Amino acid sequence: MNTLSEGSNYLRLTDSVWESMVDQLNQGVLVVDDKLRVLFWNRFLEQSSSMKRGQVLGRELSALFPEIPTNWLKRKIANVFCLGSYSFASWRQRPYVFPFPSPRPLTGDCQYMRQDVTFFPLFDAEKDVMAVSITLTDRTEECLREEELQRLNNALSRSNEELDKFASLASHDLKAPLRTIDSFAGILESEYSHLLDPEGRLYFQHLQAGARRMQTMIDGILSLSRVQTKVLEPTDVDLNEVCQNVLLDLSETVQESGGRIIFDDMPTVVGELSLLRQLLMNLVGNGLKYRSAERAPEVSVRAFQDQTSWTVEVEDNGIGIESRFHQKIFGLFERLHSVEEFSGTGIGLALCLKIVERHQGQLWVESEPGEGSIFSFRIPRG
Ligand code: ADP
Repeated sequence: MNTLSEGSNYLRLTDSVWESMVDQLNQGVLVVDDKLRVLFWNRFLEQSSSMKRGQVLGRELSALFPEIPTNWLKRKIANVFCLGSYSFASWRQRPYVFPFPSPRPLTGDCQYMRQDVTFFPLFDAEKDVMAVSITLTDRTEECLREEELQRLNNALSRSNEELDKFASLASHDLKAPLRTIDSFAGILESEYSHLLDPEGRLYFQHLQAGARRMQTMIDGILSLSRVQTKVLEPTDVDLNEVCQNVLLDLSETVQESGGRIIFDDMPTVVGELSLLRQLLMNLVGNGLKYRSAERAPEVSVRAFQDQTSWTVEVEDNGIGIESRFHQKIFGLFERLHSVEEFSGTGIGLALCLKIVERHQGQLWVESEPGEGSIFSFRIPRG
C-alpha cells in the first residue's frame, strides 16, 4: 500500500506503483544483475523492440543482443557494481551496428541514430549494489535536427561567400568606368568650361560630384565585403590605444566643432585590431557628425563587463534618432538625412554591424530625438 510517512509529505510507493511509473516513461529502462541477466524490461522497450517481457526476463543481455560488444558491456556493469556510481555512454552509429533496440523505428531517409545509455547502481538495504538499471534515451531526432541545421548553415555560408564574391567583382568592375567618367568630366571642365555658361558649369560639377559619390559607395561595398571575408586573427586589443588613435584621427573635426571626446579607462579585449578601430572610429565619428545645432558635440566612450562579455557604449549629445529608425539605420545605404544636411553614404553602421557580428557580438542603439544617442556593442570576453 502507498503510505504517507508520519509528519512528512513523502509518499512511500509500492513496487507496483514504481513499476507502472517506469512503464510510462518515454525511455527504455531495463535492469540486469551482475551476470548480465535481465531482471526488468519496461513497456517502452517491449513496444520498441518487439520483445515481450516474458521473452527476455532471466536471459543474458549479450545473448539477446549479440551485436553488443560483450566485454565492453561486462566491464561497464562490473564497474557499476564495484564502484557504486553511475556511468554514461552515447552512441551515434549506423542502425545495423547499433547494440540496443531503437526506441523509435527509423524512417527511410534516416541514416544515423543516437542513443544515450546510462548505467545506474540499484542498492539494497545494506547499501550494496544489487542490480544495475540501464536507461536508453533516443536522441535520433535531435541528431537529425542538428544535421539539418548544419546543412542549412553550410548552404547559407556558401551563398554568403558567393554574394561576397559577386559584390567584390561587381565593385571592381564598376570602378573602372566610373574613373573614366570622372576624369573625362574633369578634362572637359578644365579645357572647355570657358565655352559654357554658369549653368553648364554647374551641371559638370554635379556630374563629377555624382561620380565621386558613386566611387565612395563602391569603396564602401568593397570594405563591407572585405570585413565579411577577412580571415580574423584575434589578438589582445587595448581599447585605450584604439581610442587614442580615434582621438588623433578626429582631432581636426573636434577642433572645428569646438566639441570633445572623452573616454574612460578602457579594457583590453580579444578581437581584430583593424576592425575594432574602424568600429570605434565610425561610431565616434557619427557622434560628432550628427551634432545638434544648439550645442557643441560631446562624445563619451565607456566600457563595462559582465561574466561573459564586454559592453562598450558610445554616447553623444547630438540630434538623436526616432525609435522607429533604430533598426533601419543599420541597413546598407540607409540614411535619415540628405547629403546636403549631413555628408555620408549610409555604409558606416552596416559596416559596424558586420564587424560586431564577426566578433560574435551585438550592436544596438538607444536614443532620444533632440537629446542624443547611445550606440552600444557587446562582444564575448574571449
Ligand atoms: P552615414 O553617416 O554615412 O550616413 P551610417 O551608416 O553611419 O551612414 O549612418 C546611417 C544613418 O544613421 C545616418 O545617415 C544617420 O541618419 C543615422 N545616424 C548614425 N549615427 C547617428 C548618431 N550618432 N546620431 C544621429 N543619427 C545617427
